[in-house]
Amino acid sequence: MAAPPTHSLVLSFEAARRVVEDHASRVSPTSHETVALLHSAGRILAEPVTADRDIPPFPRSTRDGYAVRADDLKNLPAQLKVIGEIKAGPLPAAAPPKLNPGETFSIMTGAPVPHGADAVVMIEYTSRQNERVEFAKEIAPGENIVAQGAEAKRGSLLLDRGTRLNESAIALAASVGKSRLQVFVRPRIAILTTGDEIVDVDAEIGPTQIRNSNSYSLAVQVQQAGGEPVLLPIAPDEPRRLRELIEQGLQEDLLLMTGGVSMGRYDLVEQVLAEMHAEFFFTGAKIQPGRPVVFGRTRSRGSGRLARSGASAPLESLPKYFFGLPGNPVSTMVTFELFARPMIEALSGMSPHPLLFLHARLKSEIRVKPGLTRFLPAILSGQYEDSQVELVPWQGSGDIAARSRSNCLLVIPSDREQIPAGEWIAVVPR
Ligand code: AMP
Ligand code: MG
Repeated sequence: MAAPPTHSLVLSFEAARRVVEDHASRVSPTSHETVALLHSAGRILAEPVTADRDIPPFPRSTRDGYAVRADDLKNLPAQLKVIGEIKAGPLPAAAPPKLNPGETFSIMTGAPVPHGADAVVMIEYTSRQNERVEFAKEIAPGENIVAQGAEAKRGSLLLDRGTRLNESAIALAASVGKSRLQVFVRPRIAILTTGDEIVDVDAEIGPTQIRNSNSYSLAVQVQQAGGEPVLLPIAPDEPRRLRELIEQGLQEDLLLMTGGVSMGRYDLVEQVLAEMHAEFFFTGAKIQPGRPVVFGRTRSRGSGRLARSGASAPLESLPKYFFGLPGNPVSTMVTFELFARPMIEALSGMSPHPLLFLHARLKSEIRVKPGLTRFLPAILSGQYEDSQVELVPWQGSGDIAARSRSNCLLVIPSDREQIPAGEWIAVVPR
């Protein structure tokens, strides 16, 4: 059997993340499909969406009130004659085309402001008697009106390729008449869990066996990142069958493995991949949990649908990326978030974005040994300017129950030994 790769490829969190981001910037999906707007949530846009007309298409009143010429309200109190009413929708045929000095239109929110008018006075600042309205306050030109094209000019770019479609992007697409959108085809992400002790959820279970939970957490995370999970059978800690299943996984666009990447005698994932002449970018990161995380690339045996951008090599030789995530369930979830997610997002066509952190005040002092960047299960609470965060007591990286009581990961920088209560500290919301 080939020697496993050297264990000196252990990078700092920042360096490991940079390596992943660098590779992620070089992959992209190649195919797209058209989906109905209602089925586009969470998908990645494969076409630019532009404004089909000015937005708003006419100067729009933002208030219920009176459309006026600001000049007419210079001498107060001012009285103007009401010459009509404009509501949202088509202008009444009988409405005068233009506002002249001394005149006003009653106008509703969302209605087109008539020619001649340059401001809208809120109804609250007026008093009306029959056809006359009295104004007690001046107004600046432009107030309570959104000018035609102020939000977007006709033809301008509203949503770029690579945008993840959320409610506002979908609303924007609807507002410019796009009932169907071109989105990238989801990358297929193989999930291979390893370990002699691991059994299926439904199986009869022995006293020392462990139910497979990682395939399920990963399937959820893969979907959230924009991929389609492809679950493989559980691999035993035996090199031949493990290799068969790894080769099967490499038929897909990316392979995620869990377990078998630590230093134990039966941790065979790296050995088998080394035998297959895989290239390793790192075989560990100075983090907790998840230190033994592996990232690399190998040659594909099959014909995945996704290609490296610009690659003209035949399909058989296209490289396939893989992650070996540690088997402890919290490590699996955390290392997915930190490293696998950006790669899957890139394969799904999403534009790159940095890992986002929130900040909150630490509730109780933390003491740790420096040297690792830690991402520990924690609870973010409080509200408004009073966000607080505290660690969830846990039994280490196998403790799924503690992770599920948490709502974020608290980040401890690798050079900190003691963090006093009250200090602002970074958290990754999850
Ligand atoms: P390993 O990384 O293979 O050394 O596994 C570390 C720990 O995670 C062991 O306690 C395993 O039993 C556990 N583990 C590995 N894979 C899974 C899985 N798919 N679901 C739940 N626990 C797992
Ligand atoms: Mg194992």
